[in-house]
Amino acid sequence: ASDNLYAALRGAFPSDLQSAAVETADGLVYSWSDLERASAMLANLLQSLGLPAGARIAVQVEKSVEAMLLYLATLRAGYVFLPLNTAYQSAEIEYFVGDAEPSVVVCSGRNFGWVSKIAFKAGTRHVFTLNEDRTGSLLERAAHHGDRQQVVPRSADDLAAILYTSGTTGRSKGAMLTHGNLLSNARVLKDYWGWQPGDVLIHALPIFHVHGLFVAIHGALINGSKMIWLARFEPKLVIAKMREATVFMGVPTLYVRMLAEPALTREATKTMRLFIAGSAPLLPETFNAWKERTGQAILERYGMSETVMLTSNPYHPEQGERRAGTVGFPLPGVGLRVAGEDGKELPAGQIGAIQVRGPNVFRGYWRMPEKTREEFTGDGWFKTGDVGKVDERGYVHIVGRSKDLIISGGYNVYPAEIEGYINELPGVAESALVGVPHPDFGEVGVAVVIPKPGASVDGDAVIAQLKSRLANFKIPKRCFVVGELPRNTMGKVQKNLLREEHKALFA
Ligand code: ATP
Ligand code: MG
Repeated sequence: ASDNLYAALRGAFPSDLQSAAVETADGLVYSWSDLERASAMLANLLQSLGLPAGARIAVQVEKSVEAMLLYLATLRAGYVFLPLNTAYQSAEIEYFVGDAEPSVVVCSGRNFGWVSKIAFKAGTRHVFTLNEDRTGSLLERAAHHGDRQQVVPRSADDLAAILYTSGTTGRSKGAMLTHGNLLSNARVLKDYWGWQPGDVLIHALPIFHVHGLFVAIHGALINGSKMIWLARFEPKLVIAKMREATVFMGVPTLYVRMLAEPALTREATKTMRLFIAGSAPLLPETFNAWKERTGQAILERYGMSETVMLTSNPYHPEQGERRAGTVGFPLPGVGLRVAGEDGKELPAGQIGAIQVRGPNVFRGYWRMPEKTREEFTGDGWFKTGDVGKVDERGYVHIVGRSKDLIISGGYNVYPAEIEGYINELPGVAESALVGVPHPDFGEVGVAVVIPKPGASVDGDAVIAQLKSRLANFKIPKRCFVVGELPRNTMGKVQKNLLREEHKALFA
């Protein structure tokens, strides 16, 4: 079946189709044959609906194996999967459904009332329900369909999914990803991360986002590896499951939460071969604490909805060490360069805008041709919106997002640099620096600091300590000590909310 991603994943299933492919926390076991047959039934259901070519299948459901099967079914039927964050409420669903005009919407039974109203208003013809406990109209309807289906041929350029970005810097944009984007990345990662026979992945991430849906699921399937499937992240449970597993993927906050558990020990992690982190910066402190406790170096990688994975710290020691505070090297096939304000490529060590290209880079933003054009350079590189540098040894460092860059009195202030210094101060757990308008300097930095449990930190003392170490234009003008940072469901700090909160400080 041509370049259909499902066909490639299917081709990697182990020869014993009766062996376990997915095991859930409550003891359900799905064999490889179950995945193949159930996704065929769902694909047959979708194909029976007479949907137009390129139809979007929008899905806002709690995490379940069946939700993953619906993703696989959408691929094999040749439609476009559109997952939505389970946290979204009516205003957000109205925007996404209005924007994407899906032919099919799948939601949880308890949201059917308001979701179906929004969907029908937007012209959607089919609304199904799917609940965590495998009830709902989707599976009831699929049960009437056969369990064999011929994978619909797709070319590498055909759309496989539209992934809305996390909305960290503004309104979410729909990134259009093709079968070729996803498959090329899955193949590169299989190799780069040394996936091997016998690997078992603990899947504890949400599946409406690039990390849990693509990196984790494709990673396991294309290696024919079993997944231990956890509907939600629970630190004690994940640690307990490590004894049966070899690979774990998480956002940095998951690692922080596991470090708070005494059960996390060298012994508990001894079968684990690889811990991967991404989606937000992993603090060197977390990296070091993890290494001390488990003897293992977390492998940090960097990517985004628009490109899937871009860079990774090395897996094999002969490629280099995993360096805290860096996101490693561009993956094979990925071009990465750092551009200055004039758009010209900068030499190693200099900070600028990160631009990328490669078979993994998306086709554009859904129904935003203007925005798509703006975010590509004349010679075809995608502007990631992240600011960083490549060091002399080739490791990529992210220092912030271009939208978070602070220009104070004409000088660039890179938030990650200042945050790094603040985080080293005694009693500080973490921090965020944002720029707010200022009548004299245009913008100034305001720091928000989270103390370590039990520690007390004084904002003025933070500023005083920075003054002895950093140039004056980098010193935050105010420092607030608070209980926690605003984060979205992917654990990303929402600096836009902090900026909004403090925007009138110097007005
Ligand atoms: P939006 O584009 O809507 O503002 P978003 O960029 O947060 O939201 P995603 O595509 O989910 O949406 O996230 C990609 C971004 O996450 C990257 O551009 C980068 O800023 C950040 N990111 C991912 N991995 C890392 C990492 N290892 N270190 C630092 N930042 C990372
Ligand atoms: Mg983004």
